[in-house]
Amino acid sequence: MFGKPGRVVQAVEDVSFSLAKGETLSLVGESGCGKTTTGKSVLRLIEPTAGSVTMDGEELVGLSAEKMRLRRQDMQIIFQDPYASLNPRMRAGDIVAEPMRNFRAQNRGGKDSENDKLAWLFAKVGLRPDAMKKYAYEFSGGQRQRLGIARALSLNPKLIVCDEPVSALDVSVQAQVINLLMDLQQEFGIAYLFVAHDLAVVRHISHRVAVMYLGKIVELADRDTLFARPQHPYTQILLSAVPQPNPKVKATRQILRGDPPSPANPPAGCRFHTRCPQAQPVCKEQVPALTVRSDGHLVACHVQ
Ligand code: SF4
Repeated sequence: MFGKPGRVVQAVEDVSFSLAKGETLSLVGESGCGKTTTGKSVLRLIEPTAGSVTMDGEELVGLSAEKMRLRRQDMQIIFQDPYASLNPRMRAGDIVAEPMRNFRAQNRGGKDSENDKLAWLFAKVGLRPDAMKKYAYEFSGGQRQRLGIARALSLNPKLIVCDEPVSALDVSVQAQVINLLMDLQQEFGIAYLFVAHDLAVVRHISHRVAVMYLGKIVELADRDTLFARPQHPYTQILLSAVPQPNPKVKATRQILRGDPPSPANPPAGCRFHTRCPQAQPVCKEQVPALTVRSDGHLVACHVQ
């Protein structure tokens, strides 16, 4: 929850999912739907006011600051804006080495092993060794995001929250960074919680996709099922805007009407009913539960 007394915003509610080793789960939805809050809550960069986050069976909510600090070695984040997330006054080698230095007591090893690790990390993300001496401002956007990835990778994490990692990059560079993330996942079995609004990117990288609307998951399915047979009306509208790769499939673009209601005062019943073309009287009164459908889809809708 965010806000001041008397005006509390419950940014996410009843959001529940699991993530397996080597899996990418994408969170999609309009700006303000709670996807970034969900990603940061998993890492406890935003402190959840309720609920549970477990990793390898260990409850993270309520963990002491010191224990959580140690746990953060397993959980890293790549931010949206590579221009803002890297210190322009630091050399690239120091930026990437910083997490290792913070955890040196746990990782053991001296300067030589740090240099070896840095050389290995720079090679892994496709940067030349001499790039270590440069300042962040000397890099292009794609190269800066590679630095961000190297930094996240430096502690051998099990999970990386990718918060819109390519949305600030040129389209020509986006595919390179996405393919790098996929290669690293293949090699190291890292799980990605991938926050994004670009559904073409989501289709490329995801194993499963959760669609969020106004702080709730309204649909969750494996990638192919979701893109082939979206069931929730909100998902159907979102996906109708994605270019269809198969020219034989005739797609009709649906328009999402209106703006999302305020999260501080969400509508009763189904939160999407004020904008839903399929809304029924029941939708204004009863909250649809997220239920499993025959094909394994999870959908929260009274009609579909
Ligand atoms: Fe639309 Fe009703 Fe389904 Fe909500 S529950 S998505 S308003 S049909």
